Amino acid sequence: MNLNTPISQLSRVGKTTAKRLERLGVATAADLLFYFPFRYEDFRSVVKIADLKHGEAVTVRAKVELIANKRSPRQRKNITEALVSDASGSLRVVWFNQPFIGKTLRPGDEVFLSGKARTDMLGAQMIGPVYERVNTPPSVPPPETSSGQALKGEGLYTTHTARLVPMYPLTAGLTQKQIRFLVSQVIVLSAAMQEWLPDEILDKYDLAPLSSALQGIHFPKDEIDLAKSTERLKFDELFLIQLKAELSRLEKADAKAPSLAFNENAIKEFVASLPFTLTKTQKISAWEILQDLQKTTPMNRLLSGDVGSGKTVVAAMAMYNAALNGYQAVLMAPTEILAVQHYNSIVNLLGHKVKVGLLTGSKSQFPISNFQSMTNDQFSKFNKKDFLEKIKSNNIQIIIGTHALLTEGVEFERLGLVIVDEQHRFGVGQRKTIKEKGGGAHFLSMTATPIPRSLALMVYGDLDVSIINELPPGRKKILTRLVEPVNRVKAYTFIREQVKKGRQCFVVCPLIGANNEEFPISNFQFPKDDKKSVLSEFEKLSKNIFPDLRVGYLHGRLKPKEKDGTMEKFRKRELDILVSTSVVEVGVDIPNTSVMMIEGAERFGLAQLHQFRGRVGRSVHQSYCFLFVEQESPRALERLRFFEKNNDGFKLAEKDLEMRGPGEVYGTAQSGFMNLRLAKLTDKEIIKKAREAARQVAPRLGKFPTLTAKIKEWENAVHLE
Ligand code: ADP
Ligand code: MG
Repeated sequence: MNLNTPISQLSRVGKTTAKRLERLGVATAADLLFYFPFRYEDFRSVVKIADLKHGEAVTVRAKVELIANKRSPRQRKNITEALVSDASGSLRVVWFNQPFIGKTLRPGDEVFLSGKARTDMLGAQMIGPVYERVNTPPSVPPPETSSGQALKGEGLYTTHTARLVPMYPLTAGLTQKQIRFLVSQVIVLSAAMQEWLPDEILDKYDLAPLSSALQGIHFPKDEIDLAKSTERLKFDELFLIQLKAELSRLEKADAKAPSLAFNENAIKEFVASLPFTLTKTQKISAWEILQDLQKTTPMNRLLSGDVGSGKTVVAAMAMYNAALNGYQAVLMAPTEILAVQHYNSIVNLLGHKVKVGLLTGSKSQFPISNFQSMTNDQFSKFNKKDFLEKIKSNNIQIIIGTHALLTEGVEFERLGLVIVDEQHRFGVGQRKTIKEKGGGAHFLSMTATPIPRSLALMVYGDLDVSIINELPPGRKKILTRLVEPVNRVKAYTFIREQVKKGRQCFVVCPLIGANNEEFPISNFQFPKDDKKSVLSEFEKLSKNIFPDLRVGYLHGRLKPKEKDGTMEKFRKRELDILVSTSVVEVGVDIPNTSVMMIEGAERFGLAQLHQFRGRVGRSVHQSYCFLFVEQESPRALERLRFFEKNNDGFKLAEKDLEMRGPGEVYGTAQSGFMNLRLAKLTDKEIIKKAREAARQVAPRLGKFPTLTAKIKEWENAVHLE
């Protein structure tokens, strides 16, 4: 076994398990080493049965006296009952629905049992404890680093009990015990991990060596070991980001871009022509961008603003200014729906001033009129070659599109500015191409992921940041309610009333159809028949609940044409209710909608729910967001109650990290704008150190071959986002 050994070759990993692990991004032994726990259970205290206290999380070491399975006919549960004893007394143990335990454990077996004890008139009892045979191999072997505290000196090593027990993010069909067992098989390999931090950095910041940090994050000896290990691994993540930033800063130090003069009169006139007044932070952001564009070094700026804060108009000002200087500007969106929407907004804002075009992959049609916004069927047939010719000859100044803009045939005559909306949604390769195509142009990326300026500056070393931190005035707060299942009918009645008033409604489901999981990674496991999917909800709503209303559906596996068609109908108010997966998450702007109803809300991250909620409340109408849960875990409910009360995107993102753990939050496609598994934006001290260290090392990178290899590998592997 080595670091590259496929997990399928580990003991007890069949095809199914291998598939499930793959969903978690675990394909090799090394991946397992870097699959970190998100919390730990403290079962270190090993006590005598006679000393058990009610409610304490502890471990007992005992002998099985009796064990038997039985069925409870009323509750249809499988119950395993056991009596165990040590020298001090005996203890009743019960497990529900794990009949294999009754077959695995035998009278006479010696076990550790970890869990919470209960005491009643009949003495002590444990319900559903984690069990582990005393000295069953393979338990975690290396004696120096991972023996359970209380077992020191006895030569006993445990994996699941009698220690700080690691808890991992799971996916359906995998258990904590399985993952722990697998990690315990590969943990010896941590010694084989090559240290890639230079000694000078390890010494200066007193960091744990990589191999012991990997040991300690999975099977910590104690809190100190855990803290040291966590700090080291967080440092790694942040250091790589900082080093990358520092390297590209050095690289770009002498890059050139065209200086685009700030055409103050024309911009002022444009602002005066808007049907609204810009907010203060819109003005500041626009000003910062326009200042950057004047420089002869390329702008590299992030425009961060919550959903609906009005980033588009700021982008439009920058593009207009580029056009006024005789340069072209590109605005790239992650989906076709968004590209078309951007196109329509930009045409409305600027169409009478400059020529605007749209280019997406699936459309062989292009607008010829640049003076009005268009619905889909109005995109007149336009020869693609001519269109590309127009771009090449600077006959179109502002080009909006998807990644289709990155294809070979697309050439610009004078590209001055590249703007990318929600850059993290593009693949790594695409992002690289964006940068290459835009070589020599100013670069702006826009994101709705809210990050406070100070933190953003610390994390993205080479990036300038502009922040729009207020919503345009007059927006009504979206009323958010977590709805009890008994009130579902009331919610439907409410939706009907809204439709009567002329409003429209979104219904978001976590899945497409029963077998198509949109979000494979989840800490929760769902019974099959309970899943809310777009197709089943569409069926139910259109046939049973709202047979008289116009219901449509949308999901990511439809052909682009079908998607467009449905979206267009909804936009034109030919549909009252749109059932959809998370494809409505980003940017979709349909001001007439007033209700966002979310099924299986516990399956989404808070930042993502916030994005959904941002789809409504985009006009004068009071808007509503209803959350329904499929599985009521107390943790899920706590998160959703927090969401009910909070409207600040940054607060929500932080809460998400705190509640769901970085593994889960950053494991999903929606969450990661950085490849962080352990580190948080709030790890200010470590961020500072990592930045210092990156500055120290970057100019001499060639001296550190292992680190050079690591940063290359990291660049290629930031595929988690
Ligand atoms: P986002 O930042 O989410 O991309 P948009 O740019 O789509 O937000 O803007 C959301 C809506 O707010 C648009 O309909 C836009 O016309 C409108 N808007 C933008 N700025 C203002 C403003 N200062 N006052 C009023 N409405 C505005
Ligand atoms: Mg937007």
